[in-house]
Amino acid sequence: AWTHTARFLTTASRLDQLPAHELPEIAFVGRSNAGKSTAINTLAQQRQLAYASKTPGRTQHINLFEVGPKDAPQAYWADLPGYGYAAVAKAAKVRWQEVMADYLRVRRNLACVVQMVDSRHGFTDLDRQLLNFVAPRLANGEVRLLVLLTKADKLNRNEAADSLRKARAVLAALSTEESDIRITLFSSLKRQGVGEVAEILHAWVAQ
Ligand code: GDP
Repeated sequence: AWTHTARFLTTASRLDQLPAHELPEIAFVGRSNAGKSTAINTLAQQRQLAYASKTPGRTQHINLFEVGPKDAPQAYWADLPGYGYAAVAKAAKVRWQEVMADYLRVRRNLACVVQMVDSRHGFTDLDRQLLNFVAPRLANGEVRLLVLLTKADKLNRNEAADSLRKARAVLAALSTEESDIRITLFSSLKRQGVGEVAEILHAWVAQ
């Protein structure tokens, strides 16, 4: 699969440090501990790909990956800092908000946002706040959204259906005629939804 060709490119603590490019960019976002790094590694079939994002000092950085053949890359992945970690100082939280808001509002070539939401907890206030940053670009179809309800292996069938229904209700508020918003249950552990996610992302960057 095309996702297996992902390779680390660079890391940046500010938007103006990210390289400009002409390819579609996929941003991965989520509360810390939502399963974002594991999901990226699962999609890429590489144990350590999103490891840099976990290194102390790098947790507030945007890590950029190139995906596709080396001589003809197809897309970039941007692993954005996890949010909502209680132990982070106030100043760092404010900075997080600036970096995320900046990135989601103005990053050129941002094609889609993949938001990881723990399927047991659903959308939190911070998850909704993040969606607000990108809402105008979702509404006019400039940016697409794929929500992964992570760790779905921890839910039974009824709980999974409930989680999906609640999350859909939240997303309905963002939906317009132009918008393209998808949602799926996902488990890195059980490899649930992995093929589907790779297909959706491939179709989105090919357009
Ligand atoms: P991140 O902070 O969002 O990057 O989260 P991580 O990928 O580091 O995952 C946080 C914790 O959730 C770790 O203990 C993972 O082992 C666990 N985890 C991640 N994905 C899954 C999953 O699909 N199922 C289960 N049961 N646990 C998971």
